[in-house]
Amino acid sequence: IEAGLIGAGQGVLTVDLAALLANWRDLSARHGAPCAGVVKADGYGLGAVPVARALHAAGCTTFFVAHRAEGLALRAALGPAPCIIVLNGFPPGADGGAGLWPVLNGLPDVLAHAAAGRAAGTPRPVLLHLDTGMARLGLDAAEQAALAADRGLLAGLDLRFVMTHLACADEPAHPLNALQARRFAAAAAAIAPGVPRSLANSSGLFLGPDFRSDLARPGCALYGINPTPGAPNPMRQVAVLEVPVLQIRRIGAGDTVGYGAGFTADRPMRLATVAAGYADGYLRSLTGRSLALFQGRAVPLIGRVSMDLTIFDATECPDLAPGDRLMLVGGAGNTPDDIAARCGTIGYEVLTSLGSRYQRRFL
Ligand code: PLP
Repeated sequence: IEAGLIGAGQGVLTVDLAALLANWRDLSARHGAPCAGVVKADGYGLGAVPVARALHAAGCTTFFVAHRAEGLALRAALGPAPCIIVLNGFPPGADGGAGLWPVLNGLPDVLAHAAAGRAAGTPRPVLLHLDTGMARLGLDAAEQAALAADRGLLAGLDLRFVMTHLACADEPAHPLNALQARRFAAAAAAIAPGVPRSLANSSGLFLGPDFRSDLARPGCALYGINPTPGAPNPMRQVAVLEVPVLQIRRIGAGDTVGYGAGFTADRPMRLATVAAGYADGYLRSLTGRSLALFQGRAVPLIGRVSMDLTIFDATECPDLAPGDRLMLVGGAGNTPDDIAARCGTIGYEVLTSLGSRYQRRFL
């Protein structure tokens, strides 16, 4: 061992809220109206409450989460003012008076909430989700036809928005995009004429005027993920993950490194072991195919990524010492999208996998 440091601490995840707000303003300007903020999965792994607080202070009035519990936590943090919409829905009354709005994703949800609204004598504020080609959640074509034929079924509901979700918006040339927009326009007009509409996610905001609506729902682009993979990324980077070096050690030619002896040195090498692994979202599938940055220089990953530790080849970085931090996520060529491309996933998964063990710092 050349040098070591006991208890160098965990990594630091820096979230640039100013960059995130710049992204939100950019997206809102493109859309011609303030966008909502999608902050499910703890704000795509970066911290839903600080992210939503910053967005709210900047004028964002509507937030989307996936689960009721996420909505309740956000309500406690943000107070009564903003609209908080629960994409996965919840049964009537289950928001415990928090004023969350459920998305109604099928006819049974519609009938249950409508009946509750009629029984209470107060229409329920809800969103109506029409499936137009995603086949995941949302009323299917037969359910849409039933509602169009009998709009009385909606009595007891206060429809705040009618929405759909695009399946292929990150592929601008995909024919399903235009088909979904047409289906949505027709179904919304038949079922909920005059009700505000919500259509685009981040990628949808870049598809042109046919994809404008009253409320866009960007998530990934707020956090710096490229909404149109393959095209230059117009968004500012938001997340940087820096992790301290615990030890520096030297090995000789023929020595093996890490679990499974997955790497064999063909020359003397200098290794840096850092305090993060796959339990911290540094995905194990990055084994053999990633790098970190130290003062702008690339430091290759070697050996298998393990649960709490990862080993890098610091041979070309003689000045790297214990306690220095390697940038595991962030920097030129090392964005969440870059890292995702190396291991066959998407930037969303890199961010949402980050885990809870880092110290989070909000700029
Ligand atoms: N709307 C819905 C219904 C979603 O499920 C999501 C996220 O998956 C979003 C909007 C935000 O999408 P994106 O992160 O691609 O902008």
